[in-house]
Amino acid sequence: MKGNITFTILKPDAVKNQNIGNILADINAGGFRIVGMKYTRLRREEAEAFYGIHRERPFFKDLVDFMTSGPIVVAVLEKENAVEEFRTLIGNTDPQKADEGTIRAKYAKSIDANAVHGSDSDENARLESSFFFAQSELFTEEGGVQISYPQQV
Ligand code: GDP
Ligand code: MG
Repeated sequence: MKGNITFTILKPDAVKNQNIGNILADINAGGFRIVGMKYTRLRREEAEAFYGIHRERPFFKDLVDFMTSGPIVVAVLEKENAVEEFRTLIGNTDPQKADEGTIRAKYAKSIDANAVHGSDSDENARLESSFFFAQSELFTEEGGVQISYPQQV
């Protein structure tokens, strides 16, 4: 069964361009509930860890530079089949290729400054959520904390 949780970042360009409200409105209009949210800024080591899977890619330094360039909004979202549904809502990584009406088509300028992050699997949604949120900071529909994180070692 598909999970009902995903994780997103409104990236520094979205914050700088005053699009927090617009993007959150699109997220709610897309049927997602906000389970957890905070305004923060990544330190370099944090951005490197969060994007560790891309460490060997040629754009890794640019990605870390960009993600640490200003404040961000991080949020955990809830909807049935959340991971796939959210990736549809945000559109292609490259905003030039993103379908009309998607968040990246509407608010992103380039492949690096592409407005939003969205988890790519249920497992990564949990991992990425746990990177920023304690279980006590997450509130699912019933008001209880229901995301069970993998055991930390
Ligand atoms: P996503 O899952 O759609 O966000 O895309 P990826 O997981 O493939 O890449 C992670 C992030 O790295 C993207 O959202 C972009 O911000 C950035 N990125 C991906 N490809 C490139 C690239 O070719 N150049 C640069 N500068 N950044 C990139
Ligand atoms: Mg990705």
